[in-house]
Amino acid sequence: MKEKITLRELAKDPGCLAEYDPNAMEYHDAIRWIRQFIEPVKETQITPIRESLGKVLSEDIYSPIDVPNYDNSAMDGFVFYKAQENSPITLEVIGSQLAGQSSNKKVLPGQAIQIMTGARIPNGGNTVIPIELVSSEGNKISLNESPKIGANIRKIGEDVKKGELILKKGRCIRSSEIGLLASLGLPKVSVYRQIRVAFFSTGDEVVEVGNLLKVGQVYDSNNHTIGAMLERIGAEIVNLRIVSDDKKALKETLLSIVDQVDVIITSGGVSVGAADFMKEVLNEIGEVLFWKLSIKPGRPLAYGKINQTHYFGLPGNPVASMVSFYQIVQPQLKVLMGEVDYELPPLFKVKTEKAIHKKPGRMEFQRGILFKNNDEWWVKPTGFQGSAILSSMSQANCFIVMGIHEGSIDSGSTVKVQLMEGFI
Ligand code: AMP
Ligand code: MG
Repeated sequence: MKEKITLRELAKDPGCLAEYDPNAMEYHDAIRWIRQFIEPVKETQITPIRESLGKVLSEDIYSPIDVPNYDNSAMDGFVFYKAQENSPITLEVIGSQLAGQSSNKKVLPGQAIQIMTGARIPNGGNTVIPIELVSSEGNKISLNESPKIGANIRKIGEDVKKGELILKKGRCIRSSEIGLLASLGLPKVSVYRQIRVAFFSTGDEVVEVGNLLKVGQVYDSNNHTIGAMLERIGAEIVNLRIVSDDKKALKETLLSIVDQVDVIITSGGVSVGAADFMKEVLNEIGEVLFWKLSIKPGRPLAYGKINQTHYFGLPGNPVASMVSFYQIVQPQLKVLMGEVDYELPPLFKVKTEKAIHKKPGRMEFQRGILFKNNDEWWVKPTGFQGSAILSSMSQANCFIVMGIHEGSIDSGSTVKVQLMEGFI
């Protein structure tokens, strides 16, 4: 692991260090700060490729074969030998070659063999003309256009060469990687083991879905959003439901699970309210390594360690807890899962249809709706941006990302957006 970054190095302006509040770290600094405590998992397992979706490769993959492993036709048409650009344009058809036939026919100059897409190129053939570009009469064809020498032939190894490094260790496996592994004939692959993440909600007012809601209570949505987001990235989850705002109970719950999981995530109780105990508890049984973030929504966010286990305390407000999970926790979990080169999702510039309100001082992740207007993509904010308005998350398909020093902007201005990849 590289050397730890100090808070001093993280401060933007070392001259202002006295004013620098390590409890309200800037977003990218927080990402780097937490990152240094994250050691990717090392244990690996062999898994059938169809079960590897979302897992992370733990070995470099070199191709055992050429893909394709024979020259073949890219079109349904006729294969023939073309010596030079002004070769004869009438050819005698002497047979046909279907995909899957391994027989090695021979085609002589002046002859053609009808050939199907994927079929092996017969000896002597060097060019394929699509069937749509010929006129037939009996066993003769005339070429209506003159394809270039070598046209419509997929050459051996043109996709992947035997021995080539095709996928690197640390790569998250998507459908395309599964397809690529299958195309190389590899039925199994070595991946890092799943990470285990325990999570629970805190709050005396928080009630499990399915119960009657009394005045002053709120259904536990965080447990479900966090659980779903964890499943979406392929973590194994241990759901500890709800724990009340009781220091003893919180401590006991954390200690009961800490040595069985890689990560513990809680929601609520990390702010400065009278019943916000998470930071205090973490301090007693582990180490608080980070607490406050200058982002909106989601300023309070505790990160620390209890023994070898990472702890993330998310804010209780449902939008804040989802945003902090997505923007802060998920990138770290990706690294923990073995995706060492994980990049934050990219930002794109689009114009906003409506004015966007913001005060300078915190980086903001507003909820936005990307929509198409005359073939051009625009964005508009979802409306009220309160950190408890969970419906705004559901309406949104992107975040409007605004820098810490930015203020309000007018309609028609350009803003940066980030697709909400991973919420669905
Ligand atoms: P806290 O961070 O504990 O101060 O909670 C902030 C706000 O989020 C309060 O209005 C809580 O009622 C609400 N809240 C906390 N936990 C949850 C939860 N699991 N589901 C929905 N709302 C919650
Ligand atoms: Mg609370």
